[in-house]
Amino acid sequence: MNQLPRRTNAARRLFAGLLDLVYPPVCLHCSTPLDAAPSDACCDACLQLLQELLGEKCPRCAAPAPPYTLSNDECRYCEDESYAFTRAIAWGAYQSVLRDLVLKMKHGTGEPIGYHLAAMLLSQYRPELLKWPIDAIVPVPLHWTRRLWRGYNQAAVVAQVLAEGLGKPYRPRCLWRRLATPPQMTLSAEDRRRNLRDAFAARLPHPLQGACILLVDDVMTTGSTADFCARSLLAAGAREVSVVVLARALGESATDSPPRKP
Ligand SMILES: [Zn+2]
Ligand SMILES: [Zn+2]
Repeated sequence: MNQLPRRTNAARRLFAGLLDLVYPPVCLHCSTPLDAAPSDACCDACLQLLQELLGEKCPRCAAPAPPYTLSNDECRYCEDESYAFTRAIAWGAYQSVLRDLVLKMKHGTGEPIGYHLAAMLLSQYRPELLKWPIDAIVPVPLHWTRRLWRGYNQAAVVAQVLAEGLGKPYRPRCLWRRLATPPQMTLSAEDRRRNLRDAFAARLPHPLQGACILLVDDVMTTGSTADFCARSLLAAGAREVSVVVLARALGESATDSPPRKP
């Protein structure tokens, strides 16, 4: 299929984000002062905490899963699921430092945090992602009312960094959110699915018919959001959908898009 080369401005914005953070250079998480030219965005103590969240994940649903829980590339969290996406990577578990950083990222001033987290994800998973079939990178969309309120879509920030780092086309307009779904924190998995069923729509331009899509979000919990996005993309003509998220949460009390204060 045709390649759709398209430059994003992610690198330039990443640099701007870095500048924002190095004056003054403080840890993204705990604000401890860093060296004048820090090589990392977090202090050693926070990096150590982050490192503990980056263990083995299920290749199907990205749930934290030691190897002994895996069978047929599934784990106990996804063995009864019929996800429309083929594979998934989560950089870390949605806990402690990473949870705090993802929540900070959702505020208006959190965009640089998104660039840093995406860059750290990329530095770890770039070799693996380069082996995946990817023709275009698509972020999970926000409803326009929420994007207006926040000023940006945090999933789009991560998707742009991945697109730039992997040299793949960034295609945010392939997927949009038709409905502003209410916060889903208190809903059961079944209610969440019902809530999301009509929320997404996809349209793939001709060159992307039959394409392999990399879908990007900040957090995955039950996988319902990624599943419904993948179903929309497949119905619009995609051949396959893979998923990358910054963090994987577990449990029905959490949410794919954690709540935030308006
Ligand atoms: Zn720190
Ligand atoms: Zn799994």
